[in-house]
Amino acid sequence: MNHTQSGNLLERASRVIPGGVNSPVRAFRSVGGAPFFTKRAEGAHLHTADGDQLIDFVCTWGPAIHGHNDPDVQAAVAQALQNGTSFGTPNPFEVEMAELLVQIVPSVEKVRMCNSGTEATMSAIRLARGFTGRDKIIKFAGCYHGHVDSLLVKAGSGALTLGNPDSAGVPGSFAAETIVLDYNDTAAIEETFHRQGDQIAAIIVEPYPANCGFILPDDGYLEFLRAITTKHGSLLIFDEVMTGFRLALGGVQERIGITPDMTAMGKIIGGGLPVGAFGGRSDIMDHLAPDGPVYQAGTLSGNPLAMAAGIAALRKLLQTNPYPLFEKLGETIQSALLGAAKAKGLPLQVPQVGSMFALFFSEDRVRNLDDATGSETQHFNKLFRYALEAGVYLPPSAYETCFLCTAHDGEDIDRAAEILSDGIAAI
Ligand SMILES: *Cc1c(COP(=O)(O)O)cnc(C)c1O
Repeated sequence: MNHTQSGNLLERASRVIPGGVNSPVRAFRSVGGAPFFTKRAEGAHLHTADGDQLIDFVCTWGPAIHGHNDPDVQAAVAQALQNGTSFGTPNPFEVEMAELLVQIVPSVEKVRMCNSGTEATMSAIRLARGFTGRDKIIKFAGCYHGHVDSLLVKAGSGALTLGNPDSAGVPGSFAAETIVLDYNDTAAIEETFHRQGDQIAAIIVEPYPANCGFILPDDGYLEFLRAITTKHGSLLIFDEVMTGFRLALGGVQERIGITPDMTAMGKIIGGGLPVGAFGGRSDIMDHLAPDGPVYQAGTLSGNPLAMAAGIAALRKLLQTNPYPLFEKLGETIQSALLGAAKAKGLPLQVPQVGSMFALFFSEDRVRNLDDATGSETQHFNKLFRYALEAGVYLPPSAYETCFLCTAHDGEDIDRAAEILSDGIAAI
């Protein structure tokens, strides 16, 4: 591959943007090599500034569930654009969006829109504290909830990739309000609630953690979180920014039949435009201003273009029900990867649910952050570079999840399975 154009852009970017990127993981620091720049994306493919075409398993980190530049989403945005880009008053789109979210997501009785997943978790936590009158939050090592100060403690995603799961610039006094426990460890939760259950406002959890690879709960673990929070008057917040509308229309909560008190959403509900939302029980949501004492706001919240894009994406999910297809595509990729690793004699775990999967080069099932960081990330990095040269874009970190979209169906999935198998053989 010739990377001249991307190289030139990176050089210019590095002079005026820290690290040359607007989100750290894009810099490819953990997998090595220089990032490519994308000038166009269509279906399952990225078209780079250097003229290459890549089969994309990042899907803009989740939102592009119908593939890039989906014609229905594109048409909805184009139509909304005729009427202006932002009004600063209530608009009809945001009512339709809220009605859809209430209809689709089991825990959501009322919902407020914001502009990113980070804002969604930040606001959900403030509301949980305001509602319960308590300060402490429990989060799990390796879970990522955006770059909220008090949640950037043992965080996953780019923070983990770059080796600083505990960010500089977060006051110790903020972090002290966050209790970090291991995912899948029930004894630690029990002990914490026994000691200070009356101070804990909420547990926030990615029900299936997907920012330190992809980790699945032990049997009964999420049921346990539901029960113990209820018992102690704490709230259970599911961060479904990534899993929502992806692992089932109503997210993990629909899939497993557990209803949290609040849910953070984002990614897919913006159809590729910047968006977030948080919702939950009415009695909790009514504590938000202007009805209640918990302040939360946004100049561009409920933006008509973002709402139009998100509504089109959600309506298309309702109409097409792609979830059975995703189970099939996911299993195709999973079995190709496992088969190749077996032939090569490499230990490999491929946790997969529907359109999400990850690779851990390790002997045993990965149950928590320590297991994830104990896997052989150099193997992943080699596979990443092999795949990229051959035309397949995996997430540029061993600790990120791979995403499928409906546009992967057919030739792309077969070709990608072949390239990834060859890549494993070449490790
Ligand atoms: C992506 C993500 C966020 C943050 O969303 P942004 O829009 O990047 O701020 C929060 N939680 C989870 C689980 C995510 O995957």
